[in-house]
Amino acid sequence: MQISNEELVGEWQRLCAAYPLAAAQALRQLAERQSAELARYFYAQMLADPQSALFLNHEQVKTRLSQSMQRWVCNVFRAPDAAGFVEVVEQQRKVGEIHARIEIPVSLVLRGARALKQRLRELLEEHGLEEPLRRQAARLGADVIDLAIEIMCFAFSQSHDRNSRAEEAYRLFSVSQNVGVEKERQRAALLDWENQLMFDLAVGNTAVGLPQLAGSEFGLWFRHKASHAFQGSPESASILDYIAGIDRALLQLRGGCETSGEGSLDLLHQIREQTRAIRFLLDSLFEQASDLEAGRDVLTRLLNRKFLPVVLGKEVLYSRQSGSCFGVLAIDVDHFKQVNDRHGHDGGDQVLQQIATLLASNSRGGDYAFRLGGEEFLMVLVDIDASKALQIAEKLRKRIASETLRLQKGGELRVTVSIGMAVHDGHPDYERLLKRADQALYQAKREGRNRCVVHGGD
Ligand code: GH3
Ligand code: MG
Ligand code: MG
Repeated sequence: MQISNEELVGEWQRLCAAYPLAAAQALRQLAERQSAELARYFYAQMLADPQSALFLNHEQVKTRLSQSMQRWVCNVFRAPDAAGFVEVVEQQRKVGEIHARIEIPVSLVLRGARALKQRLRELLEEHGLEEPLRRQAARLGADVIDLAIEIMCFAFSQSHDRNSRAEEAYRLFSVSQNVGVEKERQRAALLDWENQLMFDLAVGNTAVGLPQLAGSEFGLWFRHKASHAFQGSPESASILDYIAGIDRALLQLRGGCETSGEGSLDLLHQIREQTRAIRFLLDSLFEQASDLEAGRDVLTRLLNRKFLPVVLGKEVLYSRQSGSCFGVLAIDVDHFKQVNDRHGHDGGDQVLQQIATLLASNSRGGDYAFRLGGEEFLMVLVDIDASKALQIAEKLRKRIASETLRLQKGGELRVTVSIGMAVHDGHPDYERLLKRADQALYQAKREGRNRCVVHGGD
C-alpha cells in the first residue's frame, strides 16, 4: 500500500496542531541547544550494540553521521511552516531509502529511536520545565520521532521491494526455460481462449456461461506467474485490469437476454480490442524479459545498469565480511559527439561496440563491465587496492587510445577515454562511491581528457 506525501504532510501538520504552541516552542529550543548531546547519546548507544556497530565502525561515517543526526534533530523538532512540512516528510523518505540501500535492519532504526526518546525525556526534565508543559513537550517529541520513523519505514519497504524485485526477476528469468518458447505458448493460449469464446457465441452457447479469461490457461499463467515476475510494471497492472474488464463484460453477455443485440455487439467489440491490447502489452513484457534474462545491454552485450545496485550491494557486503576492497572506474568517451557528427550514429554505435569489447577483454574474469548508457561505461574491479586499480585503469586507457577502430562502411579512427576512479572506503552506501568516481571523471575531463584521475577522498 502506498501512502502519498500529501497524506503524510497532513498527518504531520495534524500532529503538531494537537499540542499547545508553547510545547512545540520548548521542544524546538531544547533540540537546538541539545542536538549535539542527543546525537552523542544516540551513537554511544548504537556503537555499544554489536549489530549496529557493523554499520558504524568507520571513522568517516561516524563523524559525518553525527553532524547529520544533529541536523535531523533540529529539522524534525522545528515545528515547520507549510513548506517546511513537505520538506521534512521528503527528508524522512530519503533517509529511509538510504537505509534500504545500506540494508540497515528496521529493528536497529527502532532501537535508535527508543534511545533518542529516552534522552529527550531526561533532557526535558533537566531543563526544569513546568508541568504540564514538560509532559506535553515530551509527548510531542515522542510522537514526532514515531512519525518520522514511520515514514522512513514506508520508504524503506518500497525501495527494498524495488531492489529485490529486480534481483528476483533476474533470477527467475535467468533460471527459467527458454523465454521465447514461453512467449509463443502464452500467445497461443490467449488465442485458444478467444477462439473458444467466438465459437460459444456463434453456436449460441451462452446460457451455461462464457469462458472467463481469468480462469483460462492464459489467465492462470498470467495471474499466478507472470504478474509476480513483472510486479510493479505498468504493463502488468494494465493486463490485470484488462482481464478483469473482459470478464465483467462476459458476465453481461451471459444469457444474452439482459443486453440488446446492439449492446452485445458493442461488448464483443470491446472484448476484441482489449484482447488485442493484452497481446501488445504481453509482447512488450517479453521483450523486457529477454533483456532481463541476459541482463545485457543490447548494443554492446555488456551488463546493463539495472544490475548495478545488485552487483554493488553484493560487493559492499562481501568487502564488509572479508575485509577485501573493490574499486569502480567511471569511463566516458572523449568528444564522442564529434564521432557521431563525422561518422553518423551508426558509426558511433560501432565505436561503442569496439570499446566495450576492449573493456571486457582487458579486465579480469571477476570484474564487471557495465554500459550505463550513451558513451558512458562503468567497471567494477573486485578484490583490489587503489594502486592496482589505477594500473588497470591506465592499461585500459592506453589500450583504447592505441587501438585503431574500424567502421563497417570503411574508414578508421581513434578515440580516447577519460576515467575517474574511486576505491571503496568501507562506507556502506555504494551511491557515495559512484558519486566519487563521477567527480574524479569530471576532473579528468577538466584537466584535458585522455587521462585517469583517482578520487582524493573527502
Ligand atoms: P566529452 O569529452 O566532454 O565527454 O564530450 P562528448 O562529446 O562525449 O560529450 P557528451 O557526453 O555531451 O556527448 C555524448 C554524445 O553521445 C551525445 C549523444 O549524441 C551521443 N550518444 C548517446 N548515446 C548514444 C548511442 O547509443 N549511440 C551513439 N552513436 N551515440 C550516442
Ligand atoms: Mg557523456
Ligand atoms: Mg563523452
